[in-house]
Amino acid sequence: MPIERTLSIIKPDAVAKNHVGEIVSYFEKSGLRVAAMKMMRLSKAQAEQFYAVHKERPFFPNLVSFMSSGPVVVQVLEGENAIALNRQIMGATNPKDAAAGTIRAKFAESIDHNAVHGSDSPETAKQEIAFFFKPEDILSYVPENELA
Ligand code: GDP
Repeated sequence: MPIERTLSIIKPDAVAKNHVGEIVSYFEKSGLRVAAMKMMRLSKAQAEQFYAVHKERPFFPNLVSFMSSGPVVVQVLEGENAIALNRQIMGATNPKDAAAGTIRAKFAESIDHNAVHGSDSPETAKQEIAFFFKPEDILSYVPENELA
């Protein structure tokens, strides 16, 4: 089965609460591997660009100010079915709807402060990975020809 890559962000709320290691272990225990990882603080301009698809939405200003409010941990996760699997491990956007056992059920405070981001399709995964990482930054365990 082809191996996928997806982009994950551990958001400022979860980093501030010291949950980085616990969240990464959710990915690892589900069979995903960290192929690239960095800690950074997004500028307002970077947060606006990353979430540009939501720029007309009423929550956009809050989203941008929250995402640039403190350090985040950005990762490329790799594995079989990584994009959908990561979404499943994260749980629903609103933690009130997140299934038990998901990251958002455990760590998210609200729809605004919901602990993690994950790419939602193969196209967005490619764009979002390229937003943060150069190809040589990604230290894969899988030969290129096995990637989806
Ligand atoms: P995600 O892929 O599950 O993170 O959700 P989206 O890409 O649709 O939205 C990006 C982020 O914007 C979410 O993680 C939420 O923090 C926020 N968001 C999305 N929809 C809403 C909404 O209806 N209200 C509020 N307040 N925030 C939202």
